[in-house]
Amino acid sequence: MNNVLVWFRNDLRSHDCETLYRASEAAKQTGGQIFPVYCFDVKQFQETSFGFKKTGAFRAKFLIETVANLRENLRSLNSDLILRIGHPEQILSELAQQLDVSSIYYHAEVTTEEKAVEKKLSYLLEKHNIKFKRFWGSTLLHTEDLPFAIANLLELFTHFRKQVEKDFTVRNPFPTPTNLPAFPKGLDIGEIPTLVQLGLEEIELCDRAVLHFKGGETEAIRRLEHYFWSSDRLQVYKQTRNGMLYADDSSKFSPWLSLGALSPRYVYQQVKKYECDRLANDSTYWLIFELLWRDYFRFVAKKHGNKLFHHEGLRGMEIPWKQDWQRFELWQTGHTGFPLVDANMRELAATGFMSNRGRQNVASFLTKNLGIDWRMGAEWFESLLIDYDPCSNWGNWNYTAGIGNDARGFRFFNINKQSQDYDRQGKYVKHWLPELESIPDSKVHQPWQLLPVEQKRFNVRLGVDYPHPVVDLFASAKANKAIYDKA
Ligand SMILES: Cc1cc2nc3c(=O)[nH]c(=O)nc-3n(C[C@H](O)[C@H](O)[C@H](O)COP(=O)(O)OP(=O)(O)OC[C@H]3O[C@@H](n4cnc5c(N)ncnc54)[C@H](O)[C@@H]3O)c2cc1C
Repeated sequence: MNNVLVWFRNDLRSHDCETLYRASEAAKQTGGQIFPVYCFDVKQFQETSFGFKKTGAFRAKFLIETVANLRENLRSLNSDLILRIGHPEQILSELAQQLDVSSIYYHAEVTTEEKAVEKKLSYLLEKHNIKFKRFWGSTLLHTEDLPFAIANLLELFTHFRKQVEKDFTVRNPFPTPTNLPAFPKGLDIGEIPTLVQLGLEEIELCDRAVLHFKGGETEAIRRLEHYFWSSDRLQVYKQTRNGMLYADDSSKFSPWLSLGALSPRYVYQQVKKYECDRLANDSTYWLIFELLWRDYFRFVAKKHGNKLFHHEGLRGMEIPWKQDWQRFELWQTGHTGFPLVDANMRELAATGFMSNRGRQNVASFLTKNLGIDWRMGAEWFESLLIDYDPCSNWGNWNYTAGIGNDARGFRFFNINKQSQDYDRQGKYVKHWLPELESIPDSKVHQPWQLLPVEQKRFNVRLGVDYPHPVVDLFASAKANKAIYDKA
């Protein structure tokens, strides 16, 4: 009766994994068994409120690979991973009884759906005298090390950062157990599901993708080795991070961080090692700074709960957002007539990834130029993004739509200027919009200005090969600002 069930959720790793480490320490003392379990939650494969697949094929594939890799890594430690598909609360409650466990170890989540599962599970096991041990392991900073209670979290990121930066401690990563108790033979450990078993269709790899992301902690650590140590790109991160075209423009750690296949504390430890062994500069600092953004959104979600997903956003603003499906589809499929927006949206649809610069622009365009309900955009991102994380996604959408706690009024991205600043030669837009290939760099971002003779020369007919702009950039922003200011 000293058996421990380690419930894996969005912490799919064996390095710096407190649940696994503590279970292995407990097993050494008591001689009990450890049963690592992962359950594909069927609710996560249903539809969002606007009718998109909640987990689309890109993320599902990445998740399957991550789980498979975790199983391999646990097997190399003498253990295994029990897999199921269903409602985690029911499955875990049955397994806990069947396997005679005395405790369930798991990492805490902060958002509603995930917390609801924990609650139902503890209810189902109420009478069984099973202890629940919850750990915190998703952020760089541990909640207990913050110089304030979450309820007092400041509403501006800059203030939060200044407050924590004064004196912050990042805990050391937990060691990976070297050997776990031998896994009992004869148990039904379950098969790794296919996309089709999860209700999705197989996908083809896109040869234009910025990176072929493969799930799993082994790949995550390989990516970090590459980005920090072999290519030395960490030292120029601050200058390159806004790039949209190349794999090493930014770290690309987000998909692994989101599923917990990469620990932020491990990233931090490696940054510190890099600073010691190679160099410390504003780029090494900036990567930590970005990880603090990630922490911040998680703490915001913990503080504000469900408000993160509400129409009125964290600021509680009653904006009459439009649910204009026709225009939404132009945005979704990359046919707005603004090359920067279209290229980014087509990249997302073809690969499940988009750079941070791209996300800021397309989100601003949807909300500030088209005036469309920001939750439609957030749900579309939820469906497609490989790196979807409820806190970062809904937190950033709140922020960009101007209704987040940290929003600074109606700030809209001038797509023309952004295109010049971040894709001056038009390489990125031409990569995703081959129909614009022959347009000279100086004109490619504003095809609506091409004269008929130029359209002929550059082989692109407006309204036929590439759309006319769906709105006037400045007039639409002005009209939506008036609506926003009224609210
Ligand atoms: C509308 C919108 C939606 C977003 N949705 C998500 C999401 O669902 N999941 C997600 O991980 N990120 C999200 N982001 C944040 C950001 O775009 C991605 O984290 C980043 O593009 C990932 O690329 P990278 O790993 O190369 O980032 P890097 O520039 O290398 O940054 C390193 C890490 O810092 C964190 N980070 C960087 N910027 C942010 C940010 N603005 N907010 C939170 N964390 C950040 C990420 O974990 C990232 O991996 C969103 C941003 C916007 C504007």
